[in-house]
Parts: sequence; structure tokens; C-alpha cells
Amino acid sequence: MPTWSLRCSACDAPAALERAGLCGECGQPLFARYDTVSRDTALSMRWDMWRYAPFLPLLDGEIPVSLGEGLTPMIEAPALADAIGVRRLWIKDEAQNPTGSFKARGMSAAVTRAKGQGVPGIVVPTAGNAGAALAAYGAAAGLPVRVYAPRTTPRPILDTIEAMGAELIRIDGHIGDAGKLTLAFAAESGYFPISTLREPYRVEGMKTMGFEMAEQLGWRVPDVVVYPTGGGEGTVGIWKALQELAAGGWIDAGRIQPQYVVAQAAGCAPIARAYHAGADRAEPWIDPVTYASGLRVPSPLGDRLVLRILRETQGVADVASEESIREWTRRLATETGIDAAPEDGCALAVLRDAVADGRVQASAEVVVFNTGAGASYRA
Ligand SMILES: *Cc1c(COP(=O)(O)O)cnc(C)c1O
Repeated sequence: MPTWSLRCSACDAPAALERAGLCGECGQPLFARYDTVSRDTALSMRWDMWRYAPFLPLLDGEIPVSLGEGLTPMIEAPALADAIGVRRLWIKDEAQNPTGSFKARGMSAAVTRAKGQGVPGIVVPTAGNAGAALAAYGAAAGLPVRVYAPRTTPRPILDTIEAMGAELIRIDGHIGDAGKLTLAFAAESGYFPISTLREPYRVEGMKTMGFEMAEQLGWRVPDVVVYPTGGGEGTVGIWKALQELAAGGWIDAGRIQPQYVVAQAAGCAPIARAYHAGADRAEPWIDPVTYASGLRVPSPLGDRLVLRILRETQGVADVASEESIREWTRRLATETGIDAAPEDGCALAVLRDAVADGRVQASAEVVVFNTGAGASYRA
């Protein structure tokens, strides 16, 4: 097992591993830091995301809380590549995870750590899929779960949360409001809050998307990664994975990071707005509205990290209208057979515009993340 510790992603102050939240010094997200893992380190024999255990926050002898998350296919889509105007395009199909989204990866890591520290229960605010994933992993760990979700969350996702035995609190308002209720409940009950980037281990699970992408391409990085970004955990996870692979010499140090394309909905785009303004943090978005519920995150805690990633990779952050989100969700499904979530229609719409005006090169090899299952949105 590698040794690892927790440090602030911004000021590098050290932090305790147990019941970890934000940095006690500056309030920014904490990151797990590992001793460099070299390429002759054997990957685990497991056939789920814990295959990358040498890079994950596991204690000696600990068995992860797992439902077979990760190791999702990367499906090449030549017709879509032609339609959008890039050389090659793959869809990394995260819909094939337990409970139908990449949130499973984060919850597998976070619930493993929460169980390891003996918490009485776990609680999360969600725009939908994080709640469904936590409900499932809580059940797997034998821990009680409470979920705060907007009433407007797609019905199939709310049904999944309840089917897994979690206590579902439907709220008027958005995920930011759910976040406040989560923290108040955690303070009174002792339940451990597992909110995006407020808790440092979810992003560790998200990292495995980056490991898999590199491995599926033969241990190299694509030119461009397109991610529909809400709280920022998926984007930050992929970036962190590639930093760690490069540090250990797993990928060519000449080319560590792709150009990141952050896709947001026109009705909730705090990061795209801040990037265009040249800001290093995002102002809260008032009255977030979009059918792509995973993108309805008005005050993302990962704002500084995502904006830094965009600056460092000459990235693109842009928005798509509800109409073009629907159009590209339909095209993704009908032209590839992949069960596309609206978030990923958003990703394709933003990519298409960025290629059309030259911000993404036509010669690029592109990986687009289908972060969730369309089935979760069909009421
Ligand atoms: C959560 C979610 C997103 C946004 O991911 P972040 O890591 O919060 O940026 C995108 N798509 C779907 C389907 C989601 O569930």
C-alpha cells in the first residue's frame, strides 16, 4: 500500500485523515497526496475501479465498499466525430456504472473512508445522481443515509434513492439550499456530510475516470477532454489523475494534460461566466434553471480549481441552450445507441461550437464523458 496524507489543494496545509472537511487554514478543498507510484507497481487484480488501488485512499487490509463501479467502456463514435468536425471522438460511457452515473466512483471511495472511521450515518445534498449513488453505497456499507434533493429532481432518480432505503428529504430550492440543510443536520446528528469537494475522498474515486481513459488509449492522453461540469469534481478528478500518472512516469511527461472543455447550461453557468471574465473564482449564479439537473450547481466549491485547470490548459468553458442540449442528447442516443443524459447533450453542443470557431482544433482526438444514463431522466 502506498502511504498518503491530506493537504490543502490551495495552501498546502496538512490535515487529519479522519472526518476531514475543508482546509482549516483557508477553507479550500483538501487533496489526498500519495508517495509517487511508479509504473512497475502492480495494479490490483480487482475488476472494478479499485484496480487502481495504489492511487486510492485505502488503509492496509481494508476492503473497499464496492458495487462494481468503474472500468466503463470508451466507445469510438466516428459518425459523431464527422458531424462535429474532429479527427477522432470517443464517448466514455459512465452511464454503465451502478445507479447509472459516474457518481458511483466518488461514493465508493467516500463511503469506504466514512465506514472506516466509524460514522453513525451519512448525508448528502444532491442535484440527483449523487443521492442515488450514496443511497446504494450506504446500503452496501450498512450505514443509514439521508439525502436532501430538490423537488424538481428527475423522478426516476428520486425513486432510486428511496428504493435503496435512504431517507429522502425533498426541498424547495436548489442544491445550494440542500447543502445548508445537510450541514445543519450533520451538526445535530453526527452524520458525516459527503458533499462535493467539501469531503476530500469523493474526488479520489472520480480520479479513476482519468486512469481508465489513459489506460484505454494505451497510457497516453487525448488532445481534448469534454466534461459537463456542475460542482467540478469530475473535471478535477481527471486532472488530478493525470498529474499523478505523470509524476510516476506512467504517461509521457511531454504531454500530461489535455485541453479541457467545460460544458455548462446557459441557465446555470457560474464557471463559464467567471472564465470569460478572467476571474479566478466564480460568483454564485442566481436562479439556476436547466433540465440537465447535474449542471444545476450555482456555487461550485471546485470553482478555483476548475478555473485554474482551464487557464493552464488553454481550455474552453462555454454554455449550451436548453434547445441545443435536447437536440444533441437526441443525436447522441440515436446516432450511437448510447443512453445519453442531457448533461452529455450539453457537452456535445459546446464541443461543436468550439470546433466551429476554432477554439478546438479539427485535428483533435477528443474524449467526451457521458456522465449519466438517459433512463434516469425519462419520467
Ligand atoms: C453530477 C453530474 C454532473 C456534474 O459533475 P460535477 O463533478 O459535479 O462537475 C454531470 N452530469 C451528471 C449526469 C451528473 O450526475
